[in-house]
Amino acid sequence: MNDKIALENIYGAQNYAPLPVVLTRGEGCYVWDEDGNKYLDMLGAYSAVSHGHCHPRIVKAMVDQAQILGVTSRAFHHDKLAEFLESACKLTGQDQALAMNTGAEAVETALKAARKWGEKVKGIKKDQTEIICCDDNFHGRTIAIVGMSSSKQTKDGFGPFPKGFKSIPFGDIDALEAAITPNTAAFLVEPIQGEGGVNVPPEGYLAAASELCAEYNVLLICDEIQTGLGRTGRLLACEHDGVLPDCLLLGKALGGGLMPVSLFLARKGVMDVFTPGDHGSTFGGFPIACAVGIEALAVLVEEELSEKSAEMGEYMLTRLQGLNHPAIVDVRGKGLLIGVELEGVDAHEMCERMLKRGILGKETHRNTMRFAPPLIITKEEIDFAIDQFIDALNE
Ligand SMILES: *Cc1c(COP(=O)(O)O)cnc(C)c1O
Repeated sequence: MNDKIALENIYGAQNYAPLPVVLTRGEGCYVWDEDGNKYLDMLGAYSAVSHGHCHPRIVKAMVDQAQILGVTSRAFHHDKLAEFLESACKLTGQDQALAMNTGAEAVETALKAARKWGEKVKGIKKDQTEIICCDDNFHGRTIAIVGMSSSKQTKDGFGPFPKGFKSIPFGDIDALEAAITPNTAAFLVEPIQGEGGVNVPPEGYLAAASELCAEYNVLLICDEIQTGLGRTGRLLACEHDGVLPDCLLLGKALGGGLMPVSLFLARKGVMDVFTPGDHGSTFGGFPIACAVGIEALAVLVEEELSEKSAEMGEYMLTRLQGLNHPAIVDVRGKGLLIGVELEGVDAHEMCERMLKRGILGKETHRNTMRFAPPLIITKEEIDFAIDQFIDALNE
């Protein structure tokens, strides 16, 4: 066995089962291993590497900032936070933003905001607020969040979990209406479920959910940590349905493929529930994160990554849907977030076969291959990936 992998197995927790490759370098859509083998990255770090690996402009913004001012804590103002928040709010149509680091922290922030809004603004009795989530969701790994999960393994051994969550089938608008009670503060939903198997809801689902939420005075919280920032062919996946949610979560690609940066964004009446001392994070919105976030958003717009994702995603989806291979049960997705559900072939085994052919990929739920390459990928690269995919299927 490779000595780095062996050492990792000795000193590392075994909470992941990585494919047997040790990466040392990345550039654009490609990464290289220790022996200099080159791989086309069709996973894009679960959608955290949308700009491509080590994007020169974002690297420069990060390094420049690191040489001037790194961490200040939020005990003081610093000169990069305002610009970052302004640019994120203006791009997404939200009023205000609160900076955190990982996606899970942004989700936790949303849950806290929704609960406090429920009590203080909607007038739900103390400790009675309910938040509705969806079966097969993925929102991160904290105790509260895994408590919302419908996956056995995700929860096993980690209880007891916080109360006040209700899970309903994803894509079922009647189930949402039936689940809403006077104590419902929020509906938390991914516009397309990423980890859950790239599940695309029925046309118009989010728009209908948004209308229901407005009717019952329930906050619509869209978790766009994976689907946001161009991934589905629009800046936000909500835009496909013409929806402006009350609260929005961003992460992953917001860090430009370099560091964890996340945001909880909301309209004013919601963000107002936070007062000094309510919530925070030592690193949340620190100068380097802001410099990276500002540049990541600027590059996204200037390089028209959402438009590229729409165009390349359409191309890739059409090619995959046209394959007519007996092992392919379903091909679904939007933009460059695509799932290929397999039958008779193990998706994990497929990833290993693809690795040997110079393609990085990872399976997700329901024996589905998930593709989320950097949004700068070209037609030729997509063709190469699909050719290798077919070859691996036929092995
Ligand atoms: C990845 C992901 C998260 C969690 O983000 P982390 O940075 O891993 O904590 C939350 N929600 C969705 C939809 C995600 O895909």
